Amino acid sequence: MLIKSYLTQIHQKGHKELRVGKLSTSLNSIIFLILSSIAYYISARFGMSLFTLFPSNISLLWLPSGIGFLMCLRWKATAVPFIVISSYLVNLPGMDIGTVATPKLYTLISAIADGAQSYLAMLMFGRFLPTGVANPRDLSKFIWWVCIIPPALTTIIITVNLWMGGYLVYHQLEGFYISLLLADGLGMLMVFQVYNSLKLDPLHFKRPSINLCLSIGLIGLIFIIGIYLYPAIIYLILPVLVIMSFELRLLTVASISTLTFIGLISITHFNLGPFVALTDQATSFELMAFTFACAITVFGLALQQYQMLLTRESGQRWKMAAEHDVLTGLPNRRAFMPALTKEHHRSVRLGHTYCAVIWDIDDFKKINDTYGHDFGDYVLVRLAQVMRQSCRDIDYYARIGGEEFAVLLPETDMESGKSAMERFRAQVAEEVFTAPDETRHSVTISIGIACLAGRRIKETELLAEADKALYKSKERGKNQTTSYCRDSMN
Ligand code: GH3
Ligand code: MG
Ligand code: MG
Repeated sequence: MLIKSYLTQIHQKGHKELRVGKLSTSLNSIIFLILSSIAYYISARFGMSLFTLFPSNISLLWLPSGIGFLMCLRWKATAVPFIVISSYLVNLPGMDIGTVATPKLYTLISAIADGAQSYLAMLMFGRFLPTGVANPRDLSKFIWWVCIIPPALTTIIITVNLWMGGYLVYHQLEGFYISLLLADGLGMLMVFQVYNSLKLDPLHFKRPSINLCLSIGLIGLIFIIGIYLYPAIIYLILPVLVIMSFELRLLTVASISTLTFIGLISITHFNLGPFVALTDQATSFELMAFTFACAITVFGLALQQYQMLLTRESGQRWKMAAEHDVLTGLPNRRAFMPALTKEHHRSVRLGHTYCAVIWDIDDFKKINDTYGHDFGDYVLVRLAQVMRQSCRDIDYYARIGGEEFAVLLPETDMESGKSAMERFRAQVAEEVFTAPDETRHSVTISIGIACLAGRRIKETELLAEADKALYKSKERGKNQTTSYCRDSMN
């Protein structure tokens, strides 16, 4: 009975916590939705201040399309009313012109079309890109299903709406439609690229690299020359962005290219740069065509580069796992053999000498059998640490078998090698290991050492000599170092 009431209490408490949790999440959501709506509004005003068409709320840089899309990705249909309200508020002043009788109605229709566009883009994204945009092959789907089709549909509504409202006359419709479509598509592409980069490759604050400084400097220089001397040089922005996307991280590329495109649109607004043509319409087409081409190229290359980075990193991880022992973290036999060959060739070429050492724990089986495998593992890990600490930077060490280790001592003759290994053996003997039954133990090791000493032998033969010397150490009673000598072992 008592247990039952206790369980009911827990159950109710759990429910209460769940409800409080839900409440605070929805409060958080509302706050972030409002903040996103403010970002929508501000970015729209920013776009309008950069490059406006007629009516004056129509801009060539419509970042709100991207922000609205992200809002729908995050909050689904809940985001739509927020988008519609923001769009309505930001568009009304530009639509409220004396010659139109019901500007609020036309603004509302356009605002609903904006909301529908973001929602439609989100649906298409979910349908065609369920795993997101992580490699260049996803890009064509993203451009087509998110940046082109949804704006193409909703822009028809906006264009017809403005025509019916008397804002546009018939011969302006085609040009207006294309400009609006490109502005919305570009907005989606630019905002999504930054968001996607943040998701794939989170922010790390690092010192700016020389490549980053060079890219920013070069883009700045191109802008200055393009504005004051030769407008056509602005076209070189594309190769600079392309090279940059090979060298820099995803987010850096996304941020710099977005700022560059905003720069391009701004200078064109002041009638500077190579895109200025006879009519506003022609100017906006040239500008948008170039900006769009650059944006798609840079996004695709940055994704390609990101994939290559992932492949390289996973290759390195595999190599690391294949060449290291999981228990002690030391290199294993697979890594040791090439290191031995490399050192052997180096020593032979330079006429230097080196020592190869093999050591093995004495009576390790007994340790395992008496105190368990876990204690045996603990002994192995501690001994690996002692070896690591006692080796020089130029030495190479590895765990080449169960309780068998190898060391390479470059630039070392037999005498110094033997005394180094004797020091190590003494260190091991001093270590105290506490067993599970709280008893304290020490372990000993046996060592075999062989030295090249100008002889013409293979590295595998040298290792076999070290093994024979180790065998001799075991034979002579363990806990000692034996150096290999063909006639008599010392
Ligand atoms: P000797 O003094 O002649 O070297 O005797 P020994 O008992 O140390 O040598 P033997 O080759 O008979 O036994 C080696 C033991 O090492 C047997 C095996 O269970 C143990 N061993 C090998 N790898 C590991 C490991 O990763 N962890 C643990 N705990 N034991 C291991
Ligand atoms: Mg042993
Ligand atoms: Mg052994």
